[in-house]
Amino acid sequence: MDLKLDADALNTCVSCGLCLPFCPTYRVTGDEAMSPRGRIALMRAVQDDGAPLTDDVINSFETCVQCRGCEPACPSGVPYGHLMEQTRETLVAEKMMTPTWLRLAYKPLSSPGLLGLGSKGLSLAQKTGLVPKQLGLPNQIPLRQPDLVASGRDVYLFTGCVMDAWQREVHLAGQRVIEAAGFGVTPTGDLAPCCGALQAHAGLTSETRQLAEKMMRSLDPGIPILVDSAGCGAAMKDYGHLLGTKEAGEFSSRVFDIQEWLADKMSGLPAVEPLDMKVAIQDPCHLRHVQQVHEATRVVLDPFVGELVELDDLGLCCGAGGAYSVLEPELAGQIRDRKLASIDRAVPDMVASANPGCSIYLAAAGVPTIHPMELIDRALTQ
Ligand code: SF4
Ligand code: SF4
Repeated sequence: MDLKLDADALNTCVSCGLCLPFCPTYRVTGDEAMSPRGRIALMRAVQDDGAPLTDDVINSFETCVQCRGCEPACPSGVPYGHLMEQTRETLVAEKMMTPTWLRLAYKPLSSPGLLGLGSKGLSLAQKTGLVPKQLGLPNQIPLRQPDLVASGRDVYLFTGCVMDAWQREVHLAGQRVIEAAGFGVTPTGDLAPCCGALQAHAGLTSETRQLAEKMMRSLDPGIPILVDSAGCGAAMKDYGHLLGTKEAGEFSSRVFDIQEWLADKMSGLPAVEPLDMKVAIQDPCHLRHVQQVHEATRVVLDPFVGELVELDDLGLCCGAGGAYSVLEPELAGQIRDRKLASIDRAVPDMVASANPGCSIYLAAAGVPTIHPMELIDRALTQ
């Protein structure tokens, strides 16, 4: 089958295996079919040699977390993430992946009304103990949320879908920090309800394209767009590639992770007493491997936290991976166990994570997590 993969990109892989230690699914299984090299070999076999798409082959593709830890480790520069996204898009078009029930489950993400209703239902179900803990949802989804109010038009703050419904307090903290640095903030709210990152992971790339186009039409040009979710920021920075237009490329060029944007504006923030705590930094994959701006988290936290510590696992994935922890709970759990061991060795009071999926998944295992913006906000208001 023609997976519609770019032949040059596919042939860039020289099968050296240097990416294997950085692949979480290979680390926990030791199985070549669960490694980047093995998955690329299968893509080639299917596209170039007409190998059949057996259940095992599809399982190899489905079990990839799409953490992209293999990309920075690859000396040949294989664009693995784009290869996997295209593979999934083709398999979805052939109805070999992402069944209808799952496609329907993604629908509320782009509809704030539906998502709000669903979140209220989940919140009430949690109060009555009807939601199984294995789903890995936040301990208590809020029933009501405080309003987000614009304070100026220096920057947009992208608020998104699930994060806005479940973790709006992070947006509020981020907005206060950016305002404290001297900038007016417009939360995007219903202007841009979803970036399409989760849909792209599932191979529903046409939906991501529609959401990208809607967002580009909705947000005024020339204003930087700050993102406090690593996964959303990575997706929005990729709109140029996804849509292949000059306008999309220009849009992506004004998307910044919120820590990345703040890092060279720290002189605008007041000097305060640092928080008396030891904080371990968990780098979300889409901040470290995809956006590669994770050092900014250290820069912005350093003046506000008594002690910052690094994890010793070379930035391996935590297993959250968008909806991965729900769709592949066993593998995700094994991957998370490695992260938990690394956190235990660091003995922190708190773990700072700049991605809602990671923080929710780690919190479900009992880890005290917090967004970097919440830490700075706490230091500024203590
Ligand atoms: S994206 Fe992550 S899980 Fe997938 S092959 Fe690369 S390192 Fe492994
Ligand atoms: S993806 Fe890169 S690092 Fe991995 S086997 Fe291929 S060439 Fe080597």
